[in-house]
Amino acid sequence: MSRALAYAAFDKTSPFGPFNIDRREPGPRDVQIDILFCGVCHSDLHTARSEWAGTMYPCVPGHEIAGRVTGVGSAVTGFTAGGLAAVGCMVDSCMTCGSCLAGHQQYCDNDDITFTYNAPDKKQPGAITYGGYSSRIVVDERFCLRVPETLDLAGAAPLLCAGITMYSPLRHWGAGKRTKVGVVGLGGLGHMGVKLSHALGAHTVLFTTSPGKTADAKHLAADEAVISKDAAAMQKHAASFDLILNTVAASHDLDAYTALLKRDGTMVLIGVPEQPHPSPNVGPLIFKRRRIAGSLIGGIPETQEMLDFCAAHGIVSDIELIPIQKIDDAYARMRRGDVKYRFVIDLASLKA
Ligand SMILES: [Zn+2]
Ligand SMILES: [Zn+2]
Repeated sequence: MSRALAYAAFDKTSPFGPFNIDRREPGPRDVQIDILFCGVCHSDLHTARSEWAGTMYPCVPGHEIAGRVTGVGSAVTGFTAGGLAAVGCMVDSCMTCGSCLAGHQQYCDNDDITFTYNAPDKKQPGAITYGGYSSRIVVDERFCLRVPETLDLAGAAPLLCAGITMYSPLRHWGAGKRTKVGVVGLGGLGHMGVKLSHALGAHTVLFTTSPGKTADAKHLAADEAVISKDAAAMQKHAASFDLILNTVAASHDLDAYTALLKRDGTMVLIGVPEQPHPSPNVGPLIFKRRRIAGSLIGGIPETQEMLDFCAAHGIVSDIELIPIQKIDDAYARMRRGDVKYRFVIDLASLKA
């Protein structure tokens, strides 16, 4: 075991504070990473504050992890000490089912995924997993990603959840040249969706409720920005989209967007609303064979593909770097939507 420093939530309301955790010694297939940066995802907030069921305390969140390899097991082939490495939302899965073997570990047929934090740790029976709000992590090589040295490492951290969550549906549903893609909502997910869709060559339209965000959308390389409350502006795009990625996690009327899909177009839901969306109107789905689908993060091979794609296109997240001592303030600001567009923790602050 090696001792790692961490920041934990000790219950659903008290502020975060320092917490020491034990990381296992690297086994033959393990990579030990000293964490340099960790993005702050809305899932961290929901979990730490027990807004989803099943939080185990003390809780050390963080699944947008980037750092430097400081040790590898004897059987590791893809990583060497001194190189950059990253870890996303998963640290293990069954690796025997059809989905895992196909590289879609997030959809494990046996529902046997070990999430990066707040999950029973198969590698340390009786223990739970602790995430990236910590100085070190030890992860099976098969769940580690290589980070191209050309990427800004702090800006790359959010690619491990926000980036892949958008990249996977863009690729699955064929976003590219001569396709028109909509992104609903300009937050941590939406801003990555706009950048990635544009880089894939799609005509990219951002939908936002905030007139103040349209200039930002253009800056992020959206071809157009539409105020979704403006019925006339929405009508101009009727039946024209191949794909719409809907990141909004609040319950809302989906019909306003299905009407914008062309024949065989797909709207992919990525945000999970606390209260269900109103049931969509079936007629518009039937008459143009439109689809409503869902998508969850991405598998490990696709996450590596995404990091390499981002390196080739110079894409990172727009971030605000914070010391870990500011995490409670960051959560408060996230609740107000006051972040452009991702907080990233500088783990150097943990030692201070
Ligand atoms: Zn996340
Ligand atoms: Zn599996």
